[in-house]
Amino acid sequence: MNQEVYQQILKSLPASVRLIAVSKLKPASEVEAAYALGQRDFGENWAQELKEKHLQLPEDIRWHFIGHLQTNKIKFIIPYVHLIHSIDSFHLLQEVNKQAEKCGRVVKCLLQFHIATEETKFGFAMDECQEMMRHPAYQRMRNVEICGVMGMASLTSDSAQVHREFHQLHDYFVQLKENYFIDQESFKEISMGMSGDYPIAIEEGSTMIRVGSAIFGARDYGAR
Ligand SMILES: *Cc1c(COP(=O)(O)O)cnc(C)c1O
Repeated sequence: MNQEVYQQILKSLPASVRLIAVSKLKPASEVEAAYALGQRDFGENWAQELKEKHLQLPEDIRWHFIGHLQTNKIKFIIPYVHLIHSIDSFHLLQEVNKQAEKCGRVVKCLLQFHIATEETKFGFAMDECQEMMRHPAYQRMRNVEICGVMGMASLTSDSAQVHREFHQLHDYFVQLKENYFIDQESFKEISMGMSGDYPIAIEEGSTMIRVGSAIFGARDYGAR
């Protein structure tokens, strides 16, 4: 890992922003190096990889699941996951609730919104999300706790566009807070910002940045 960059990022963060170190496709030894510096929040994209790392690494790590979650993989992460950032459909939330109930847990989740222009990115549209909020099946769920929103901006050098997209996500957060979560103190997280755009995300009100390659170096996707 790049310790210098890691320390610089930490130093630059306002007290209201938490750093999630994204360790996907990096060996457990890299997680240990960051752990030794005091890092406790780590992000992973794949259930199998997370399961293996969880078995090898210290118990007090808070594991954040940030990738697209397939319903048949939920059960591998439910017993220990700290926060699922990537709830991108009503169906997925229902399945997480079901597995969490079996486990006797209440699992913290964020609702992922589609804010980028790229079609390939996952996430709710606002009207779809509001429909879910009003659905009786949603209101009956007891084993998930919605703690906020997550989104990914477009991959572009146009910083004005990135500002607009993060601003949009912040807006969604405020609307949901006012309409559905006004009495729920734990609905307070806005997970936005990655290696290339986290300073903009912080300006737009991020509370959690998910940074991988800036800290751990480029990833080798060929390994998957
Ligand atoms: C990989 C990933 C990140 C980290 O990306 P970097 O550009 O390496 O910082 C953050 N969020 C999500 C959802 C990711 O998949």
